[in-house]
Amino acid sequence: MSDFRADLHCHSTCSDGSDDPSTLLYKAKEIGLSGLSITDHDSIAAYTDELFALAGSLGVRLLPGVELSSTWKDQTVHVLGYGFAIDSPVLSSLIAEIQSKRKQRNRLMLEKLKEHGIAITEDELMRASPFAHVIGRPHIASLMVQKGFVATFQQAFDGFLSDGAPCYVPGFKLEPQEVIGAIQSAKGKAVLAHPHLAKDKKLIKEILNMPFDGIECYYGNLQKSFTMPWVELAKKKGWIATGGSDYHGAFKPHILLGASWVGKDVFEQLM
Ligand code: AMP
Ligand code: FE
Ligand code: FE
Ligand code: ZN
Repeated sequence: MSDFRADLHCHSTCSDGSDDPSTLLYKAKEIGLSGLSITDHDSIAAYTDELFALAGSLGVRLLPGVELSSTWKDQTVHVLGYGFAIDSPVLSSLIAEIQSKRKQRNRLMLEKLKEHGIAITEDELMRASPFAHVIGRPHIASLMVQKGFVATFQQAFDGFLSDGAPCYVPGFKLEPQEVIGAIQSAKGKAVLAHPHLAKDKKLIKEILNMPFDGIECYYGNLQKSFTMPWVELAKKKGWIATGGSDYHGAFKPHILLGASWVGKDVFEQLM
């Protein structure tokens, strides 16, 4: 029996995780993982030559990964990409577009907050999240708490930032098919992330007809009985059944790195 375990879903300081990429590798080594994929939201900035060198010296296999945001009929769809060419121009330009649209959106949300007496500058937002390549509502909410405008992170969302709240600005709309296409043209595998979290059961049916290569069946602390239907579906469709923790470090302390994982065969299929 092989004891190869790889966590294929975690976030670093390049998006909304609290551990930097090298810390993730050290932690992976510490808990005995053989493979890791760091899947930051809309960023592949973690994947530097230095990180691959560190992975090599630790003996942890590092699989290029990313979690791209898309929207299907107003429902957010997260698409995981694995094993793509890091230097693919198609993927890089898609990510650059997402990031510039995000910057514009953050500017608009800060303007709205200002109208509500909440003064946060773009510069403060940047400085408060020095490593994040993808800054969004969670970073704004944290800053609102830090600066004493609200008592809790959730109050920032409930009163101002949640969908439809007074200072909310809708995100950049990119359809899942475009994201899947970009990942596949970069020679990567496109995987539907955490399907069990989808709220609209009718839309999920439509989404499941899109040309994914895999589906994330094992997730965080999800119990086996909840993973089974997705594993069955993966079999039926001939898709790769992937899995990972969705570790965010201190930002979601109840989920540990390695909480969900895959074996060697799945890892090799994505590599
Ligand atoms: P953004 O990508 O900037 O739209 O931010 C999306 C993130 O904000 C989500 O991944 C959640 O972490 C967080 N979020 C969205 N809505 C809420 C909410 N109502 N309460 C708490 N957190 C939320
Ligand atoms: Fe996240
Ligand atoms: Fe996600
Ligand atoms: Zn994630």
